[in-house]
Amino acid sequence: MKELLKQYHLEPTEIKKLEGYGSINYRIKDKDNNHYVLKHYTDPSELALIQAESEIINAISGKLSFKIPVNSSGKQTSVHQYADKNFSRLLPYIKGPLLSKVKHSPGLLYNFGKSIAELDRSLERIRNTEIESRKFVWDLQYCLLNRSKIKYITDPSKTKLVEYYFDQFEHFVLPELPDLRYSIIHNDLNDYNIMTDGKKITGLIDFGDITYAPLVNEIAIALAYIMIGKENPFEAAYQVIRGYQTLYPLNEEELKLLYYLIPARLCTSVCNSAEFKVKGEDTEYISINEKPAWALLEKWISYNPVGVKNQFLKAAGYPLIDLKKKNDDILSIRKKNTGKSLGLSYSTPIYMTGAAFQYMYDHKGNTYLDARNNIPHVGHCHPKISQAISRQTRLLNTNTRYLYDSLAKYIENLLPWFPPKLNKIFFVNSGSAASDLAVRMAQTYTSRDHLLVLEHGYHGNTIIGIDISSYKFDGKGGKGMSPGVTRLPLPKLFNGKFRTGEEYAKNATEQISGLINNNILPAAFIAEPVSGCGGQVPLAPGYLKTIKPFLEKHQILTILDEVQTGFGRLGDYFWGFELHGIIPDLVILGKPMGNGHPVAAVVTTEEISNAFATGMEFFSSFGGNPVSCEAANAVLEVIEEEKLMQNAKETGDYFISSLNSLQKDFPAIGDIRGSGLFIGIEFINKDGKPDTKFAEMVNNRLKQHFILAGTDGPYENVLKIKPPLCFNKSNTDFFMEELNEILNNTPDRIRKLSELP
Ligand code: PMP
Repeated sequence: MKELLKQYHLEPTEIKKLEGYGSINYRIKDKDNNHYVLKHYTDPSELALIQAESEIINAISGKLSFKIPVNSSGKQTSVHQYADKNFSRLLPYIKGPLLSKVKHSPGLLYNFGKSIAELDRSLERIRNTEIESRKFVWDLQYCLLNRSKIKYITDPSKTKLVEYYFDQFEHFVLPELPDLRYSIIHNDLNDYNIMTDGKKITGLIDFGDITYAPLVNEIAIALAYIMIGKENPFEAAYQVIRGYQTLYPLNEEELKLLYYLIPARLCTSVCNSAEFKVKGEDTEYISINEKPAWALLEKWISYNPVGVKNQFLKAAGYPLIDLKKKNDDILSIRKKNTGKSLGLSYSTPIYMTGAAFQYMYDHKGNTYLDARNNIPHVGHCHPKISQAISRQTRLLNTNTRYLYDSLAKYIENLLPWFPPKLNKIFFVNSGSAASDLAVRMAQTYTSRDHLLVLEHGYHGNTIIGIDISSYKFDGKGGKGMSPGVTRLPLPKLFNGKFRTGEEYAKNATEQISGLINNNILPAAFIAEPVSGCGGQVPLAPGYLKTIKPFLEKHQILTILDEVQTGFGRLGDYFWGFELHGIIPDLVILGKPMGNGHPVAAVVTTEEISNAFATGMEFFSSFGGNPVSCEAANAVLEVIEEEKLMQNAKETGDYFISSLNSLQKDFPAIGDIRGSGLFIGIEFINKDGKPDTKFAEMVNNRLKQHFILAGTDGPYENVLKIKPPLCFNKSNTDFFMEELNEILNNTPDRIRKLSELP
């Protein structure tokens, strides 16, 4: 230490080591009560950079209304290099308090914004080749360098947030970079580097991250830190932006990019904290912001991008993004040029402009909690799925007549989830095509045509699909059951025809026996393990197990439609047929298989597959193409990485038990059923009859509370809950709070139990 200080002719009376990284820092007090910071650098390769930093600080010294680390002559002392090539420099110590330690009043935040603009203005015309050639992880334009550190984050639900925001940066910021204003910026205006008297900014330190970057990055970084830990982060951001705009206005494009830049900075911070932690290099200084940074990132995903962009535009006084006209145009094009049979949810449809994980964003800036959409199984716009698809579209997209990697890989990944007997897979593009194919295979194998279906079942929109879907042929506009089909009662326990699965099975076998006695030999029985369109009805326990041996005895194949129930949604089981303890002959897969990418399949046995090889080729132009297979592979990987089946189980159990508690107070809730994240709430009236209007009312009110659910069942009186599998307990709490409020504020007919006579 003495050796270090010799150069500066100081006589210290106190030396204190300071937190920080990049250099070893000491606070030094001399006998005249002057305070200094001695920064000692042990990496000689940094010398040129430190010298460049000093030059820049010297160049702006005297131009600012707050202090920066220069001495009384307005310059920095020159750097001292030692025999071992290490070097150090002495800076005046700028007294706090730090911005991080004081209350952030609107006035102070406004002044903070103005001070940032003042700083940026002073740097505007400075050029420095050393700084301009810097490339490092803390420079936001290079934030993707931090992708290599994602591996240090151990919680997969956190990993995916970082992956998501880096992916967003890559696709929505990187292409804009060439058009942005560049400047030398401080690049680390976090509130630990800012001094204040509580009313205004008085000092600014640590130019160690100074770089040449898009100007907007400066305020993005400042905002990232100032928004951390705030109840309403946008109130704070509003003041900072207002202040900034008075001196150095950002344009609209720059302001809109803040939506991506702020979380990208937070991601940079958490990636580096994670790395430091793993390497045992974390200090209080490094990890201080970690928890609140995660909290803000987790909140950020629930912010609507249009809404956030508008907050920033509003603060800067620019017109807001207004998509009303676009909404109206889209609606009128749909009305004019698509059929009336193409439905829209809700009387005022929602124009969706984005989505992420379990959230969907509309054009007005609202965020909806998605408790309804089961197709984005692992979450909307999951970066792993998007990347898998987009990479493969750049490499090869062809059809199954050629060999390629991803199909074989998918088969190897998927089939272990099935019993060994189900080892043949046929790829198509939709659940409808899959059920059509499964039926054709069953008919080919058995050389029979007749089909057994369940009441209210739905399997697809092709001719065969409609023929086997009682939900359609018995529903509005349906032509009734076709002669080649027999409908069996849906084995539903609540308000059902029979009381047990076995009784339903007995009824079914009697009906089938009747057919056989009339020389009608069915080819197959087709059912969903939990009937979705039937109103989220798990087939009564024992039903499938009881009829399966009977079906086998008569060589009737069992086709299970796992389009809604498969891929871990039910929590305890990967497939619905496992719930019922049977092994079907054919399984139909769809919806979640590609997380929204159209890929579907039939999985069956070798025997059935062989019988289908009649000489006629089976070919589907898009079925199982390399892009689809990459999407499907990524879905399986994410289910495992993020333990989504386990989450479906835990969140689903929690959801169902919360609903059970609510039911005690509200007799309108007749039945709660399902498992995992496949749940139905059946509403009934005072007479115990289906209450369609009530279910519709609840569903519409949930929409007003920004929750997406749906209604289904033959009477449309069942509220269906089947969210992306990343839906969590706090989402459940939110849902329950809103549902509780809706039920509590419902007119007389739905009085609370306690108020009933
Ligand atoms: N089976 C079931 C159980 C379904 O829910 C659906 C779609 N709702 C289908 C088949 C048909 O799938 P797709 O819409 O992909 O043709």
